Amino acid sequence: MTQPSPPMKDRSAPAGAPGAEAGKAAAPFGASKVLQALVEELEKLPGIGKKTAERLAYHVLRVPAEEAMRLAYAIRDVKKSLRHCRTCFHITESDECEICADPGRDPSTICVVEQPKDVYSIETSGSYKGRYHVLLGAFAPLEGVTPQDLTIEQLLARVRQGGVREVILATNPNFEGDGTALMIREKLRAFPAVRVTRIARGIPSGSQLEHASRSIVSDAVEGRREMGD
Ligand SMILES: [Zn+2]
Repeated sequence: MTQPSPPMKDRSAPAGAPGAEAGKAAAPFGASKVLQALVEELEKLPGIGKKTAERLAYHVLRVPAEEAMRLAYAIRDVKKSLRHCRTCFHITESDECEICADPGRDPSTICVVEQPKDVYSIETSGSYKGRYHVLLGAFAPLEGVTPQDLTIEQLLARVRQGGVREVILATNPNFEGDGTALMIREKLRAFPAVRVTRIARGIPSGSQLEHASRSIVSDAVEGRREMGD
């Protein structure tokens, strides 16, 4: 006599998966340690909370393997082929970024930004023809970001080499960005021949460069002012 196969009552816990055995306490997320590991990695991404991480993990589980693997390969390729420019710390596929390598860009002006995406914002505005320096963050003591975590020393080394006439501080016009600009301004006092400017306040205070429109970024760079005492 053959027994009819039992109905699948719980589709979230496939047989054999850890935690699927009766009497065992359920894993914190479903029954799979593998899925839990994915949730934990996704949760580390900026702006992703636990709920979103779980939703994304379930999405990855649901889509065809090729589609999920395209995401995995894209992440691998970014880590394999992209690095920071040895001079300005922008993103590049070679040792030096296209902007640093371009002889048409004015090396006497350095625009200091927080993140590579800020370079894209200013480049899109089309108003700037100098070079950049990417800090890779902003001074945020409460979040544990110290000046040593930023590329400030490398910026000072570039200025020390000579040939720099102006440093434009284009950090975001918010608490962290303003504090970072002030700190760099202080350090640049060691180079009295270098003009230090701050982008104009066209960008709403407390906001971010990356969210500003093209014309506002352009106006902010054009309308930069001397950063005094
Ligand atoms: Zn560069």
